[in-house]
Amino acid sequence: MDIISGQVVKGMPLVKEGDDLASMIMERFALQDNDLVCIASTIVSKSEGRVRGLARYRPGPVALRLAGRLRSDPRFVQAVLEESREILIETPFLLTVTKFGHVGVNAGIDNSNAGPGRILLLPEDPMASAERIRIAMPEDCAVIVTDTCGRPFRCGVAGVAIGWAGIGAVRDWRGEFDLEGRALAITQEAIVDEIAAMANFLMGEGDDGTPVVIFRGLDYPKEGGRLFRPREMDVIRARLGDHRP
Ligand code: GDP
Ligand code: MN
Ligand code: MN
Repeated sequence: MDIISGQVVKGMPLVKEGDDLASMIMERFALQDNDLVCIASTIVSKSEGRVRGLARYRPGPVALRLAGRLRSDPRFVQAVLEESREILIETPFLLTVTKFGHVGVNAGIDNSNAGPGRILLLPEDPMASAERIRIAMPEDCAVIVTDTCGRPFRCGVAGVAIGWAGIGAVRDWRGEFDLEGRALAITQEAIVDEIAAMANFLMGEGDDGTPVVIFRGLDYPKEGGRLFRPREMDVIRARLGDHRP
């Protein structure tokens, strides 16, 4: 029977800088070709040494102004600015575009689980992280780096893909037909996000200690597509106006 399965990798330790995630996963799970390995960005960041002490940040005038309005630590705001190329919303929370193109609250920086006075930045280049982990696995697997995000218009957080390798971001339905024989003109399905959402569900958000989920039996394109909408095509973003840091 061709059944799709998804499973957390059990027994992953606390990850620290320099850890080889591919080996840690392979030691605990017998991967096969076409497996899809979903990894929480949190541990990718930790392995890449993206923990920062707040004390290293020197808030500039923009951070000081925003921190006053947000009632948050100016050093934290400075960190968000340094990870961002554009601010979309200034209050009641900071929504920014990260340097690698992902839109997230506080540039996806986590201030939990990093230790007191410390923060955890997202990986600098999650696409490169995903590819690095993928090529370290002898099997022909795909890798998705996930993060939990809030969503506009909808309550509740969900997992999204912030980096991927060995899988196309979207499944392109253009040129396919619907049940009534009409050609689909625009549908591009963001499959890496759909998969990331289920992975995130299996990982949990708390102290489960399960940052890796393997899917087997999924049929997915190996390449193609993009996830981050180009600025000039983004109607919603245009309505938010322009606030460069
Ligand atoms: P994010 O969604 O990438 O921001 O990651 P979360 O903080 O929500 O963590 C996702 C999952 O990974 C949860 O099950 C956490 O308990 C787990 N987790 C986070 N860090 C580690 C770690 O260093 N080791 C292990 N084993 N699990 C971790
Ligand atoms: Mn996160
Ligand atoms: Mn999470």
